[in-house]
Amino acid sequence: MEVIVSAKTVDEAVALGAKQLGKLLSEVTYEVLEEGKKGFLGMMSKEASVKVIAKETIQDKIVDFLNSLVNDMGVQASAKVVKIGELPIDVGCVVSNSSTIAEIGKYLKTGMPLIERCITVDGNIVKEPKNVIAPIGTPLEDVFEFCGGFTDEPKKVLYGGPMMGITVPYLTVPVLKNTNAILAFSRNEAKVPKATACIKCNACANACPFGINPIVAAKALKTEDLAGLEKSGIELCMSCGCCSFACPAKRPIVQNNKIAKETLEVYAPIAHRPLWHRHRR
Ligand code: SF4
Ligand code: SF4
Repeated sequence: MEVIVSAKTVDEAVALGAKQLGKLLSEVTYEVLEEGKKGFLGMMSKEASVKVIAKETIQDKIVDFLNSLVNDMGVQASAKVVKIGELPIDVGCVVSNSSTIAEIGKYLKTGMPLIERCITVDGNIVKEPKNVIAPIGTPLEDVFEFCGGFTDEPKKVLYGGPMMGITVPYLTVPVLKNTNAILAFSRNEAKVPKATACIKCNACANACPFGINPIVAAKALKTEDLAGLEKSGIELCMSCGCCSFACPAKRPIVQNNKIAKETLEVYAPIAHRPLWHRHRR
């Protein structure tokens, strides 16, 4: 992307060009086509002319790659960038998994709303791990029973997968409309490893798909540094668990991230209010 812009000075023209391209100054390069002339008393003056070129970013490369991919597939689609703080709907998109799309298709075709879910039932003590279709509301114990029951006493049962799953308190809890998996583990598998001191190896940050450094967020949380929490980018954390999985010290990073994110959600809007408003609370 490039534009040719004229202004009184080269600097002004570059700033104008960057604005027209929707980029920061650090994200453009430029080529001076003509130096401006001040002239005398406004006479014989000449504007500077500059070609401003947007630098190619990793984001641009990804967008190009995705666009060529869908083009090769013969699909009428184009990649869009969702900026930090935005949702896909802000750029006119809805992101859904294949099950949801299939259910919407079924509803449009038959009028039947979502009444059952396809669930993966697994874990080291499930006798016959398998995928099952279960009506929403079915108690988990019935689903496990359908899969042959347990080989050992369950010590941990999860709604969801091993990375992002949430522990359920009882086996009588039901299949929900968003349940995609249920897992059951024995005492040995459920044991939480003992956390040791952080060795600053950076494995957690390297593992994060968003480039978040959980150590920065943890420090900001510990020191109650709200601005630091905002800067850490922890609001983007999707609790995928990659950082915890990569940590050799077995630190509870995801748990910490969740607290950090909630702290930010609750306190940042209060901190950003005008002082008089904060005092009235
Ligand atoms: S849990 Fe959050 S911080 Fe950790 S890797 Fe996933 S997105 Fe990054
Ligand atoms: S991976 Fe674990 S030990 Fe390494 S820096 Fe992160 S928290 Fe510390």
